[in-house]
Amino acid sequence: NGQRLSENNGATLATPVETDWNDTISYIIKNTLGVWCKPQKGRWELAKIKATMGEEASVMLSDGSDFTISTRELLPANTESFDAVDDLVDLCYLNEPSTLHNLQYRYNRDVIYSKAGPVLLAINPFKDVNIFGNDFIKAYKEKTLDKPHVYAMADAAYHDMVKGSGNQAIIISGESGSGKTETAKYAMQYLASVGSQNYKIKTKLDQACCILEAFGNAKTSRNCNSSRFGKLIDINYNAEGIISGACIKTLLLEKSRVSQLCRGERSYHVFYQICAGAPPVLKDMLSLKMASEYKFLNQSGCLKIHGVDDAHNFIMLVDAFDTFGIPHEVQENVFELVAAVLWLGNISFAVINKEEHVVPVADEACRSAARLMGCKMDDLTELLSTNRIDIMTTPLTLRQASIKRDALAKFIYESLFNWLVEELNTSLKGDKQHSPHTISIIDIYGFESYQKNSFPQLFINYADERLQQHFVRHLCKLEQEKYESDGIHWKNVEFEDNQECLDLFEKKPMGLISILDESSNSSKATDETFTDEIKQHLSSNLCFSCEKRTFRVRHYAREVLYDASGLLEHNSDKLQYDIIQLLSSCKNPLNHLASGVMNQVQTTSQSVVAKFKDQLFKLIQQLENSKQHFIRCIKPNTKQLPRSYENDIVWEQLKCSKIMDILQISKSRYPISFTHQEFATRFGCLLSDNLISTDPLSTSAAILQHYRVPTQTYRVGFTKLFFQQVDVLENLRQEVLE
Ligand code: ATP
Ligand code: MG
Repeated sequence: NGQRLSENNGATLATPVETDWNDTISYIIKNTLGVWCKPQKGRWELAKIKATMGEEASVMLSDGSDFTISTRELLPANTESFDAVDDLVDLCYLNEPSTLHNLQYRYNRDVIYSKAGPVLLAINPFKDVNIFGNDFIKAYKEKTLDKPHVYAMADAAYHDMVKGSGNQAIIISGESGSGKTETAKYAMQYLASVGSQNYKIKTKLDQACCILEAFGNAKTSRNCNSSRFGKLIDINYNAEGIISGACIKTLLLEKSRVSQLCRGERSYHVFYQICAGAPPVLKDMLSLKMASEYKFLNQSGCLKIHGVDDAHNFIMLVDAFDTFGIPHEVQENVFELVAAVLWLGNISFAVINKEEHVVPVADEACRSAARLMGCKMDDLTELLSTNRIDIMTTPLTLRQASIKRDALAKFIYESLFNWLVEELNTSLKGDKQHSPHTISIIDIYGFESYQKNSFPQLFINYADERLQQHFVRHLCKLEQEKYESDGIHWKNVEFEDNQECLDLFEKKPMGLISILDESSNSSKATDETFTDEIKQHLSSNLCFSCEKRTFRVRHYAREVLYDASGLLEHNSDKLQYDIIQLLSSCKNPLNHLASGVMNQVQTTSQSVVAKFKDQLFKLIQQLENSKQHFIRCIKPNTKQLPRSYENDIVWEQLKCSKIMDILQISKSRYPISFTHQEFATRFGCLLSDNLISTDPLSTSAAILQHYRVPTQTYRVGFTKLFFQQVDVLENLRQEVLE
């Protein structure tokens, strides 16, 4: 039962067919089994072989038409009894068309979850499927349902934790729009109800998501509710397995979105929600207009999302703030800042001298922004028309003043976001001392590639690359190394890992991150010198190529063309001291926000990307200290449409995320292991005393021999025995013990 690499569907894909392909073909003909073929370029179709002539076969498609094709272009199909198997590992033939067929068969019946060995696959339905809610939670809790589901995975994590295997992590990955955030919410929903009779914490977790999404999600061209920050939610449990509290950790918010939008995209939801839904009194207080009146919002030509009611969502947001017990005055302060950001965007400038220096026009925008921020209009005007370092002031040109205005708006928004996360955490924080266990759910931004890719895509795709390496390392590399290090002959599955691409980013002293970091800290660096540097130092990396003002990175998911201009500016993010000074003199919560960040600014001189890398490493480290459960989300089409499953798009994601390699490893895996001693002790009761030896390995061998355990189902290593399953021995043991 050897493994044969089939030549026509990618080098890493193996099918468990006979060593000799001709034998397989004979076997298929004899049993009138089906084959997959591609009559034209494109779709796989199911066919029957009518006859073979040497290397050629005459095949008939299901519509009755027939044609001749090289047998090398055929792949064996599974019989219908395999349609809809829950775990792809159980497919007899594991190849591209069989895998795609299985997933599509299920998807068409609204079965969006499947297993790929240890990984849960979730295909985004883009519509409501009736498999969530209390009845389903109950069914998974009581184990009356055991089909693949995010609830089942959350349940496994919970029980692993309760049984004492320490902290758990549910890691959700996938491209932008594949369904990570929705899946994370369902996982949380389950964990909140399984570990608590306490309705309050459940509601709070739900409401925390509502607040975070209002402030941290936005419509992009890939996803109408795209997460523009990464998040890790730790749910803490006490020794009895009851929730005691939770903590949200966030990764870098894409703050450029506050002032700059691409065509067809939107800024953060909260801006549109407040414009559409604020009650008249609040509107007056904030001098609010319609969203279309604000430059930060109207620049992209997109103000509404089909099917989304911003006004209603504003009510939900206020409701969520209420749940968290955030007092109304504080809520008002929050909305004042949101509105201040919008008004800042409307501030325009007038040229005042022949050196082209400018001052803000003293109009409604400037007045409202100053009032909402809680500062004097003169102070704001001075801030936006000059740079002040110590006692030196220099006047600004239009470009400089606009950059400063945008920096101020972005800083206010980012501080507000971070402050909100802190507020939520204070309220979610339980009794840490009595919370020995944690289940973490990680949902970060997914891979994205647009026509124009800039700083946000660079850090989002870098994070995705890191997480992918973690995924592959855990599921492919470590699994195989485990057998090899114990001396077991293991047919290595070759898989391409993404180390080369990570080296491109992380290598010291000359990786993309170091060079970006260094250039951002140097006063002499420009976009040109930066491009020269990366060209000079990174060109030998196989994942990199540099053109004039752009460079290409071959990510594991796809190649992305990045625009080099503006990267330094986004990355340096040095907040001028005069901005901080103004903010800390403002009335109301801004004080806290600004002074908090001021400490941060003063204690670290790292650039954005270097800080981001540190955060990311800490996160990965936390994962490595937990038992990990993996969910891979897949989008079935790029149009965000229900009932549309495109083979090519699904296959791309399965292939590049290495699901096919993981499947192949899982298929020949020995998931259960015992040390020789453990095995001898556990199953020694099955032997008569005279067969038991003092040497645990001899005892183990005697057990295996005596019960004729098939040799292909286990492997004996230097220190351990590895099994595909031990159900038979376990049953025997139960009988003996009873
Ligand atoms: P990003 O990386 O951009 O944040 P994401 O992977 O988090 O993307 P989601 O925001 O979770 O993607 O999903 C995108 C959209 O797909 C959702 O807004 C929703 O409309 C739909 N969707 C995802 N999962 C489900 C589901 N289980 N049931 C119904 N619709 C879903
Ligand atoms: Mg998301």
